[in-house]
Amino acid sequence: MIILDGEKTANDIKEEIAIEVNLIVSSGGKVPHLSAILVGNDGASETYINAKVKACEKVGFNSTLIRLSNEVSEDELLAEVVKINNNSDIDGLIVQLPLPKHIDEMKVKEAIDPKKDVDGFHPSNIGRIVLNLSTYFPATPAGILELLKRYNVETSGKHCVVIGRSNIVGLPMSILMGRNNNPGNCTVTLVHSRTKNLKEITKTADILIVALGIAEFVTSDMIKDGVCIIDVGITRVKSNKTKSRRKLLGDVNFEDVKDKCSFITPVPGGVGPMTIAMLLQNTLLSSKSEFLS
Ligand code: NAD
Repeated sequence: MIILDGEKTANDIKEEIAIEVNLIVSSGGKVPHLSAILVGNDGASETYINAKVKACEKVGFNSTLIRLSNEVSEDELLAEVVKINNNSDIDGLIVQLPLPKHIDEMKVKEAIDPKKDVDGFHPSNIGRIVLNLSTYFPATPAGILELLKRYNVETSGKHCVVIGRSNIVGLPMSILMGRNNNPGNCTVTLVHSRTKNLKEITKTADILIVALGIAEFVTSDMIKDGVCIIDVGITRVKSNKTKSRRKLLGDVNFEDVKDKCSFITPVPGGVGPMTIAMLLQNTLLSSKSEFLS
């Protein structure tokens, strides 16, 4: 069994990006610039956004964090997005989700200039993925593809089962794995909360991508020998064994399944770190003016 080490791979990617930024700057080019909007003061969102800003610093990007209060109106938020769209110094814009209930998330996603949509959530960028055109991939699916590529996991002709159909992970992942690309060229089955006989389907998977948000949902009786498992899930649970009194669990029961797997991502240290690395990758792509122009 081979561990797909997301921590190490993400650090490799960040080093590669930092080297490229150095080259760009030393030849008189523009420093890539990521702008992030955070609405309110939700603890988890705060942690995620700070990690993204810190990662920008680490690779030599400029970053701007715009904090808006929980009471900001939808119009005020949209006006902020338009201001950043029109700022030619800024290459990428992310709006940290979730947003307060009074704001329509889809309206905000649609307001972002698709050329600056480094989260890859804009409907036109999702459409470009479906049509196999160049575009930004949402960061988590992009991170999974990068792990498969760097560990030379064969995907062509394999049966890939994706559990979960969210707009940010499961759905785009299922499309990407079925495209005529490497990684890709899989026969894909997308399963979800209404799927009947889920276990019968997962047992036929060569590659199983799990993103449903239920801790340790996948167990050894649901998989076949030699499967490659990608565990996207993150659930925080109480623990007496850690200093923080909390630990993270994936959607897969790692200890139970590991001996049957050819490859597996751990939680933490698998898909999670890759997500930020791919956001940086998308921002670098955006700063190259030829991309999506
Ligand atoms: P979501 O929470 O939006 O949706 C869950 C999906 O799982 C739905 O499509 C639903 O149909 C499906 N589902 C629910 N119960 C099911 C069941 N019993 N059987 C089969 N399918 C079922 O999904 P999400 O936003 O993709 O998040 C999923 C998990 O991935 C969460 O734990 C989240 O924290 C984590 N996540 C991690 C990263 C990362 O960077 N590692 C990024 C995004 C999400």
